[in-house]
Amino acid sequence: MKITIIGTGYVGLVTGACLAELGNDVFCLDVDQHKIDMLNNGGIPIHEAGLEEIVARNRAAGRLQFSTDVAASVAHGDIQFIAVGTPPDEDGSADLQYVLAAARNIGRHMTGFKVVVDKSTVPVGTADRVRLAIEGELTARQSDPQQCPVTFSVVSNPEFLKEGAAVEDFMRPDRIVIGCDDTSEGQLAHAMMKNLYKPFNRNHERTFWMDVRSAEFTKYAANAMLATRISFMNEMASLADKVGVDIEAVRHGIGSDPRIGHSFLYAGCGYGGSCFPKDVQALERTAGAYGQELMILRAVEAVNNQQKHVLGQKIVARFGDDLSGKHFALWGLAFKPNTDDMREASSRVLLRELIQRGATVAVYDPVAMPEAKRVLALDLGPTFDQQRIRFAHNAMDALTGADALAIVTEWKTFRSPDFAQLKAQLKTPVIFDGRNLYEPDAMADAGFEYHGIGRSVLT
Ligand code: NAD
Repeated sequence: MKITIIGTGYVGLVTGACLAELGNDVFCLDVDQHKIDMLNNGGIPIHEAGLEEIVARNRAAGRLQFSTDVAASVAHGDIQFIAVGTPPDEDGSADLQYVLAAARNIGRHMTGFKVVVDKSTVPVGTADRVRLAIEGELTARQSDPQQCPVTFSVVSNPEFLKEGAAVEDFMRPDRIVIGCDDTSEGQLAHAMMKNLYKPFNRNHERTFWMDVRSAEFTKYAANAMLATRISFMNEMASLADKVGVDIEAVRHGIGSDPRIGHSFLYAGCGYGGSCFPKDVQALERTAGAYGQELMILRAVEAVNNQQKHVLGQKIVARFGDDLSGKHFALWGLAFKPNTDDMREASSRVLLRELIQRGATVAVYDPVAMPEAKRVLALDLGPTFDQQRIRFAHNAMDALTGADALAIVTEWKTFRSPDFAQLKAQLKTPVIFDGRNLYEPDAMADAGFEYHGIGRSVLT
């Protein structure tokens, strides 16, 4: 099938590459010329396992092209996926300017039937706004006597991939959610979407068909549920620290109940990324617009904001308010492993806190170092100087002369380090483990002073 993807970011690039891999003819559009040039020169702007190979293979086969040409992109795809960003607006609601700009472009250039798919995470009712934006452009063109009437259908198909496992998730989805309306155009869209996703449903049916608004809502409800589990465990961990309980033991104890399950029950130093923080906020704003307060989500957000300071607070409790003259090692910068994404990463909060209190820091992340340099320069402004933050060559190099190690991202490579070497590199053997990678008893036996999250067991 002929597919256009509008927006070549994490979701758009993975969607485009994977749909090409399945044999579709895919045209990826972006407004960012630099990104398109990089892709056309064989580069990949993001870190995602397996993506580079798929992009290279499908470009070579002529099934995947990258361009900034809007008219050509609209002409190409019978199905037009909108996969642009929906960042938080000033009040926390989803900023739809990029989605609506993409919709207007479609309306401006389309000459035949199109299925317009909202793949971006968008609030309930956005499909109606996309339809109106396209209709507005079509109406403006009606003065053109050459113009035949053209029809379209707007479909909601939210994306559930996880950064760090995006290709795998897209290729083997737990579920595919598609919302169509029941007009004749909606029925045609339903048939075309069913055809497109047929390869994913071979073993068993994974597609949940529903109305458009329910599909839009499903994405927010899913992210809100996951964020809630994390904040719940973080709140339990804070109490565990006070009452002398090991939250990891508790996690096993409750996760084994199938009604609860093991996933997303990890206490840590807060969730980040481009989705949970903004989607929780956007759902709260949607509720507010309808006169409802989402009390649980307000608490989820508050707990998470507080949790991003937990490592800083533990460091201050140990070393004092004034950290001038102190030097720390920081392992992990990305908001989670296997990605270079630094959006809303907990590392940014901790780094700002340490630097503002006068400390120096040596940081290391297996893939996010270039992105971190870009982002930290924006975060820290004039205080960002390479004297205060050193970008280490590797994990062990970061430790040299540090008063303590803080761990923020649970990269696999940090799970089983050579503890003897680790201890020898540090000035004092103190570890603040923001992801509970190690066992307190084993760390004590190895001669470390160990501070986990919710692991202050009274013995
Ligand atoms: P991103 O910022 O990585 O990419 C968005 C891209 O859209 C950018 O390259 C930007 O230049 C481009 N763009 C903006 N306006 C455009 C226009 N008018 N025409 C063409 N291109 C345009 O964003 P992302 O992380 O891929 O997220 C996209 C959407 O998918 C968001 O709504 C997000 O909430 C949702 N989502 C993201 C993830 C994730 O893990 N990142 C997962 C599921 C859903």
